[in-house]
Amino acid sequence: MNSEKLSKRLETVAGFVPQNARLADIGSDHAYLPVYLTKTKQISYAIAGEVVKGPFESAKKEVEAQGLASKIKVRLADGLAAIQPEDEIDTVTIAGMGGQLISEILNADLEQLINVKRLILQPNVGECGLRRWLNQNGYHIVAESILQEHQKIYEVIVVEKGQQALNEHALLFGPFLMQEKSTVFIKKWQQELENKERVLKKLKQAKQLNQEKVAQFSKEITWIRKLII
Ligand code: SAM
Repeated sequence: MNSEKLSKRLETVAGFVPQNARLADIGSDHAYLPVYLTKTKQISYAIAGEVVKGPFESAKKEVEAQGLASKIKVRLADGLAAIQPEDEIDTVTIAGMGGQLISEILNADLEQLINVKRLILQPNVGECGLRRWLNQNGYHIVAESILQEHQKIYEVIVVEKGQQALNEHALLFGPFLMQEKSTVFIKKWQQELENKERVLKKLKQAKQLNQEKVAQFSKEITWIRKLII
């Protein structure tokens, strides 16, 4: 992967960035996403935020090598602190982290999101918890995508401001993904079903029975079976 040819995962994220957006890519690493979007003229301005020195230096190097330093500002900052009012950011991408870390980053600085119209989030794990946080914090899901790359399955969740009634099913599976039931979606939940059945068996064999966990796993296993079998 480089800024000319994104991974399928980041390409999917890029596909949800509105034309002419002013983007903050938080946890940008090499800044491949903002560089790609700038070179393809999809965005007009970007912040590449990084909290770790090494990736921050890589992002700076990439942006300078591509001659894009006037259009992409690389900042060493924790989460949304990378955004300044004069950036007039309207779109935020956070990709390649756990869902919990993504929700912590958003939760730490809600004021920074007041003028942001769209969040495009790609959690590697913990999608359900992230959907729950989004749902409880005034965001509604406008699109979702699921894809497979190098044996790994990724979800992309796109939200804008607004209320949405999401039941436990929709939080777990994703409201759009569970309607669409793509081949990758079925594959993901077949794998999850096997994992959960294995864990449930172990839980039931444990000396001290954790009834709450057993009930949760049993419930989810029933839901998954109903949805995909
Ligand atoms: N977004 C890129 C992608 O999807 O390919 C890079 C993903 S990389 C696995 C995650 C990056 O997020 C790391 O470079 C890490 O330093 C950065 N990161 C983690 N927590 C962060 C935070 N609170 N603020 C900014 N960057 C963060």
